[in-house]
Amino acid sequence: MSDYILYEKPESGIARIVLNRPDTANAQDTQLLYELNEAFNRASREDDVRVIILAANGKHFSSGHDMRERNHHDNQERYTPVTPCCQHRRAGAEGRMSREEELYTGLSERWRNIPKITIAAVQGKCVSGGLMLCWPCDLIVASDDAQFMEVTVALGIAGVEWFAHPWEMGTRKAKEMLLTGEPLSAEDARQLGMVNRVVPRAELEDATLALARKIALQPTMATKMVKLAVNGTVDAQGRHAAMQNAFALHQLAHSHWMEVAGLPINPDGVHASVKKSITAGDEPYRAPAKPAG
Ligand code: ZN
Repeated sequence: MSDYILYEKPESGIARIVLNRPDTANAQDTQLLYELNEAFNRASREDDVRVIILAANGKHFSSGHDMRERNHHDNQERYTPVTPCCQHRRAGAEGRMSREEELYTGLSERWRNIPKITIAAVQGKCVSGGLMLCWPCDLIVASDDAQFMEVTVALGIAGVEWFAHPWEMGTRKAKEMLLTGEPLSAEDARQLGMVNRVVPRAELEDATLALARKIALQPTMATKMVKLAVNGTVDAQGRHAAMQNAFALHQLAHSHWMEVAGLPINPDGVHASVKKSITAGDEPYRAPAKPAG
């Protein structure tokens, strides 16, 4: 179906979408994100799919945005946009904001609102942009080696574009995660309510499948209503408006760094923060010559 995504039907009623770029620790470039969106579209369309699992091949769930990507705009224009924000080639903040509205907040919000139940299976590192893949899912099963990290503050930015942190773990822990850049363990994430279940690494696939199987037996009308009711609760509390505010601050930070450093992020923070957070396989991360936003 695609280069970076596998689409599987492990058993009746369940689709499993697998990030399959393990040589980069499932780094997200434009192609991977749109191929992932196409896989979610397929699972949404197929009537026999009642529950969707999002999993990842390799040691790590995702290292976040692929900062080695070049030609963002050319790559993006190969795909059908999911939002009306297509002004990526406009100069300055207007173009950057448009790209990030489409590719990051647009896609993550869209996946969050799929009217079927989604379950993320997370192992290894899940860094910054990786959070924008697992957080939109309804449930998260993590292996005991999973670590959730946010390294954007070292890059001079206050969090990833889809800013769900306070909703996922509460305000104090959200601030700690952002301000320190230190990893949150799977067990700590479970205790905070961010993760549903923690299982040994070898049992992640089976445990996620067992949970999906149980939910797939429920009437889809009811599971959809549960999702709408719970998501509607946090939306009534202002989730979406708060995330729009954080996104505007994110854009302000990009513009600040463009003004003072000529790059959309703090150039001094790139190597240290990324090196600390992730390695692709066992290879040291190669610092990009010109980081992307
Ligand atoms: Zn950004």
